[in-house]
Amino acid sequence: RLSVSGLVKRYGGLVAVNNIGFALRPGEILGLIGPNGSGKSTVMKLIMGLERPNAGSILLDGEEIAGRPSHRVARAGIGLVFQHSRPLHRQTVLENIKLALLPDNLLRLIADPGVERQARAIAERVGLGAVLDRLPGTLPFADLRRMELAKAIARDPKVVLVDEPFAGLTSGEVADFSALIRGFRDEGKAVLLVDHNVKSVAALVDRVLAMYLGEPVAEGSAAEVMRNETVRRVYLGGS
Ligand code: ATP
Ligand code: MG
Repeated sequence: RLSVSGLVKRYGGLVAVNNIGFALRPGEILGLIGPNGSGKSTVMKLIMGLERPNAGSILLDGEEIAGRPSHRVARAGIGLVFQHSRPLHRQTVLENIKLALLPDNLLRLIADPGVERQARAIAERVGLGAVLDRLPGTLPFADLRRMELAKAIARDPKVVLVDEPFAGLTSGEVADFSALIRGFRDEGKAVLLVDHNVKSVAALVDRVLAMYLGEPVAEGSAAEVMRNETVRRVYLGGS
């Protein structure tokens, strides 16, 4: 279980995240929704330990992880699917996944047949079985995104943070990725799913937290959040 409260992040004079809080249980998908610049990715980075919060608490199963470096957050059981892909371009798809499987201090295990087997299984699961030996630069966009999913779940995290997984995908690919994310939930992972739009994740999420300019503006079921005045003005009005 992930419990976030009073999370604040400032960049100079800009308050990117202001007083964000939520609880996320195993087997649940929480949608974190907001237009550009709302602070969604910053929330993800704060949880993953890629940025340090100015205030607030991030408890994973009761243990404070706020401000810990990201490799320790990963070890504690959190994985992040980045908004923008970050592959190692000189390594094949399989090698990228193998590297994501291993903590920094265990990279010597890279040639271990068990690691190879695990990496192949993860690649199959996300639909990369046919492109294991390709270099990331030669992959279609959707396969690069699949590789990000694979890397994030490689170490079987309890919590998966998924930052705008559907951007740039065809409707068929969106359905495919939605099924994968449901699969994470159904095996008991807690999923935090970022998107711009409540409507596009309504069928997938259990609850929604809507943000605007760093602030929480509404929380509840997708239907409740879609009825909220501020949400309607900011997300639905005019767009
Ligand atoms: P998008 O939908 O475009 O991905 P977002 O909701 O993920 O937006 P963030 O990327 O979290 O928004 O950014 C929130 C605010 O913080 C923005 O105004 C952004 O310009 C600012 N910001 C983010 N990272 C930094 C940084 N490293 N330095 C300075 N400002 C930053
Ligand atoms: Mg973002």
